Amino acid sequence: MRTVEEALAEILERVERLGVERVPLLESLGRTLAVNVHSDTDVPPFDNSAVDGYAVRASDTFGATLGRQCRLRTLGDVPAGSMATEAVEEGTAVRVMTGGPMPAKADAMVMIEDTRSSERGIIEILEAAKREQHVRRAGADIRCGELVLCAGTRIRPAEVGLLATVGCATVPVNRRARVAVLTTGDEVVDIVAGELPSPGHIRNSNRYALTALVQESGAILHSLTHLPDDPDAIEAAFRACSDQLTGADVILTAGGVSVGDRDFVKPTLEKLGHLDFWRVAMKPGKPLAFGSIGNTLFFGLPGNPVSAMVTFELFVRPALAKMEGRADLARPLIFAQLTQDIKHESGRREYVRAITLTENGGFLTTPYEKQGSANLRSMTAANSLLILPTESEGL
Ligand code: AMP
Ligand code: MG
Repeated sequence: MRTVEEALAEILERVERLGVERVPLLESLGRTLAVNVHSDTDVPPFDNSAVDGYAVRASDTFGATLGRQCRLRTLGDVPAGSMATEAVEEGTAVRVMTGGPMPAKADAMVMIEDTRSSERGIIEILEAAKREQHVRRAGADIRCGELVLCAGTRIRPAEVGLLATVGCATVPVNRRARVAVLTTGDEVVDIVAGELPSPGHIRNSNRYALTALVQESGAILHSLTHLPDDPDAIEAAFRACSDQLTGADVILTAGGVSVGDRDFVKPTLEKLGHLDFWRVAMKPGKPLAFGSIGNTLFFGLPGNPVSAMVTFELFVRPALAKMEGRADLARPLIFAQLTQDIKHESGRREYVRAITLTENGGFLTTPYEKQGSANLRSMTAANSLLILPTESEGL
């Protein structure tokens, strides 16, 4: 049996980045940048004012205070969107709005609050200005040609704004994986509004939880199929989903991958493609088949709903992220103090659904009381997976 690390390393080794496509800037949110982005301009592009006020020569205002204000002759205003035409010669000032360009020869801004205008054509400065105060110089934030975003970055609203600043109307992003979700089981039925499943049947929760996980991880749903425990139906579906032209990048199955005599997923994968491994020393989710059919990667997840979700989180999500060219594959890992003892049988690493909170600058964690691998309540109640080391006899 592979350890979790071995299994993940083997999976990531097999996964290749998908191709690149260009999308309009507003469609790039949530996507992954495929190239390094350099600025095509200085930011800010020209020297400008950080305040509403008067552009001055700091030396003209030396010693000015309330009661000993200095008087400067005002030249024309600089409206937003235009360039200053007149230079600030000795003894003069120009009105500039926030973001407006600095006139030539001015080296400081005086805030409007530190001025008084009592006479037409004259402005009184009530506080001495220091050179460069409230002035934003061209290129102070970003230099033309500077690297601003790296390939592999996930595009959030701030990245959208920065891409606009540096002139990217369209953005090269990596293609998202198309994932086929297949659930299995004669006992599993779809939900019908207002109806309960007939005796012996259960509702198909994996169909929905796995699709949601695929979508949340930024991938695209290729198709959604439920299969009876019938080798011919399973084989036909695997063939369709791994078709050269119309198939998926990834096949994800749930259930039918254990050692029961109605578990046909593994033998069918072995018949049509290649099985790399099929068991991982973890709990929940020991049976996990990984392999490929043609160019399509194959993950056979366990059928129990919690096991399916946890194995998706540990193995499928990082694989999809790598396919999409993401630089960050791992979730945050923290150390937390247990609020109660927890038992563990050594031999498999356990992922316990837990509620983790901050307290006094540290983390406290409480395992959810019912850890059954079919109990989705443990997943909705928890905000974290508590990792119990393989050899541990309890913590
Ligand atoms: P299996 O691996 O097929 O033996 O399934 C393990 C357990 O998970 C069984 O109790 C199944 O009934 C249950 N199960 C399998 N598939 C689903 C599904 N799509 N939704 C909910 N439960 C499932
Ligand atoms: Mg089954």
